[in-house]
Amino acid sequence: MALIVQKYGGTSVGSIDRIRNVAARIKAERDKGHQVVAVISAMGGVTDKLIGMAREITEDPMERELDVLLSSGEQQSIALLAIALNSLGVDAVSATGRQAGIVTSGSHTRGRIERIDASLLKRYLAEDRTVVVAGFQGITEEGMIHTLGRGGSDLSAIAVASAIDADLCQILTDVDGVYTADPRVVDKARKLPEISYDELLELASVGTKVMQSRSVEFAKKYGVKFEVKSSLNQNPGTIVTEEHEAMESVVIRGVSIERSQARVTITGIPDRPGMSGRILGALAKAEVNIDMIVSNIANDKLARHSFTMHTSDLGRAQSALKPVLSVLGSEAKIETEGGIAKLSCVGIGMRSHSGVAAQMFAALGEANINIGMISTSEIKISVTVEEGQIEEAARVVHTAFGLDTSD
Ligand code: ADP
Ligand code: ASP
Ligand code: MG
Repeated sequence: MALIVQKYGGTSVGSIDRIRNVAARIKAERDKGHQVVAVISAMGGVTDKLIGMAREITEDPMERELDVLLSSGEQQSIALLAIALNSLGVDAVSATGRQAGIVTSGSHTRGRIERIDASLLKRYLAEDRTVVVAGFQGITEEGMIHTLGRGGSDLSAIAVASAIDADLCQILTDVDGVYTADPRVVDKARKLPEISYDELLELASVGTKVMQSRSVEFAKKYGVKFEVKSSLNQNPGTIVTEEHEAMESVVIRGVSIERSQARVTITGIPDRPGMSGRILGALAKAEVNIDMIVSNIANDKLARHSFTMHTSDLGRAQSALKPVLSVLGSEAKIETEGGIAKLSCVGIGMRSHSGVAAQMFAALGEANINIGMISTSEIKISVTVEEGQIEEAARVVHTAFGLDTSD
């Protein structure tokens, strides 16, 4: 008998029929003698709909109230699944984030799981009941409701699996596993039998939304091995685990894209200590999430800095930088460009192979795709391209690194 945590995402519980399907899958595990704690998202589209309703009232709803509102989506789905399980004869009980003892810190809409007081979950399990836990929510020490950021049910599942020391943690979703690229964009994408925490973490942080990046970070920190697989079939999925030697032979594990990016360039910056701090400080204060940063000194001995960010942060960035420009001096100017996207290649094999960037740039060049900014880390190379060319860029690079299914 094993103790299994199964997480079902929004599409997997997106209708009453789908909820019945999930209940049947859980019953099948119970029939084999296993115990199950299911962690559930809101029904697909519900979270977006709730956000839309709040925004109909005001562009800037209070985050405390957004948390109260959004957490109701998962409260609906856990009750519906518990009802479906009981109707199949499975003794199941639902638990909200608070009931499941998920204690959070940090800010509203971006709560962090501090700890899980799993006493109630353990009591239900001792009574051999199936528990359906609300994903995406927790409660602060002061009793305030927190949500955990979009896609946060992944984090709830990994944290619950760690807290109850589950034998198995499965993330059940609408794809068969983690692919070499988003199968909706690259039709030759291949399912990976396994991937390391670090690679999935990098991919998730550059747009691969199959797992929320913080959930992978948590899994790595607490050593939670998990499997990503389909909620609609029984195909083997992708095992996410510690890296091992054989993994290094693959140079690129996957490619990822991020749309809706914008670039801000400040030119004419005096080449003096403290200038970059001023600029970045102003952006940080305005809570602008900066991604790539490139800076250099032009012929006129003045510096230029370029940053990328999500398009939705652009307005805030411009307002935050205006007052800084006057401090930088009369030569300083700001330029902005929208309509760009980011393509990233990730693989731990990059540590031991050289020429990977050159291969990526050559493939893009041959396809006549112009590269804007470039940034690299130990296991990742990212470039910006025109947004209209991002899908083609992903396919070209996917092929160049031999990732296509036919290879
Ligand atoms: P859930 O609702 O189950 O949490 P998500 O929509 O958050 O599911 O994540 C699954 C989706 O992630 C897939 O439908 C797929 O389009 C997308 N995706 C993006 N990149 C990848 C990838 N490399 N491998 C698998 N799925 C990916
Ligand atoms: N319902 C939340 C969202 O849509 C959490 C999740 O699905 O993981 O982001
Ligand atoms: Mg998700």
